[in-house]
Amino acid sequence: MSKAVLSEYDYDIVIIGGGPAGYSAGIYAARAALKTLLVEGAATVSQISITDMVENYPGIPEGINGFDLMQLFKKQARKFGLEIIAQDATAVKKISDAPTIWEVSAGGRVYKTLSIIIATGAMWRSLDIPGEAEFTGRGVSYCATCDGPFYRDREVIVVGGGDTAIQEALFLTHFAKKVTVVHRRDRLRAAGLLQKRAFAESKISFAWDCVLEEITGSEFVTGAKLKNVRTGETSEIYADGAFIFVGRLPYTEIFKGLVEMDKTGFIVTDENMRTSAPGIFAAGDCRDKLFRQVVTAAGDGANALYSAELYIADLKGQAY
Ligand code: NAP
Repeated sequence: MSKAVLSEYDYDIVIIGGGPAGYSAGIYAARAALKTLLVEGAATVSQISITDMVENYPGIPEGINGFDLMQLFKKQARKFGLEIIAQDATAVKKISDAPTIWEVSAGGRVYKTLSIIIATGAMWRSLDIPGEAEFTGRGVSYCATCDGPFYRDREVIVVGGGDTAIQEALFLTHFAKKVTVVHRRDRLRAAGLLQKRAFAESKISFAWDCVLEEITGSEFVTGAKLKNVRTGETSEIYADGAFIFVGRLPYTEIFKGLVEMDKTGFIVTDENMRTSAPGIFAAGDCRDKLFRQVVTAAGDGANALYSAELYIADLKGQAY
């Protein structure tokens, strides 16, 4: 590894990820007049952008569509002059020690930086059962907002018992005539209010203690094979569509070996968003944490930026 001098870098901070965590960090960075680049994925879409309704983000009592909320984040960042490129970051490597300088590759270019905030988010987890990949886009979906309108007056299955599954099941009742929630236990994980709404909704029914073994169909989905995990009994259910909401996996592949991760690939940080690598911070859904919300992602982004700011000041020998 070559020796570098502290002037040999392009940015104080490169933020990787264009969701609430990345933009929150970007807004704080731009306001703090730090030389910052936000690398917003070109091929990936922030989960919030495909969320129908966010009604628990403080300050917006009437609720807001996720895409619209993201546009507000972006507008605010641009107002403070944040530099943004829409390219997928493809590699990160350390190019010098003492001072530590990192290099981020994106869109065929490399950007040298003193620090990095990883805010790459997470993607929906698949079930890996027969028929799932085959019928994706032909009845299997991971986005009710995108595909719900195709199921007007039809019957759909929703797999999962968390907030996403129940919220999306409720959303699907705007279109489908019947929504069956298939959940592997006999109680939901979703928040109480969502549960209450789902139990009161006549279009929603539940297949408790059940998992999907196969998604069936010919050209399009026509149903699924279920197994009751308590009794071992199998059954078939008719459905025109299967919406799968069984959690998430982080977009952290390119950081493997650079920072400590849990067994699923979520990045381990301390409470100030510091990772195991000097100058690398992580924020939002890609981080190993309990509660993944827009508000917690935005909070993480602000915290990560503050930690990065302290780190950079220290590196430059500046008093903060
Ligand atoms: P989640 O909370 O991890 O729930 C995943 C659900 O899928 C659980 O019910 C789980 O069952 C089930 N599941 C996991 N693997 C499965 C498998 N292989 N087969 C069958 N079922 C499986 O994920 P999420 O619902 O996407 O929520 C993620 C985070 O986002 C949470 O923190 C949530 O609060 C937050 N969120 C918030 C809102 C909101 O509006 N406030 C909306 C969406 C999401 P078990 O319950 O048995 O583990």
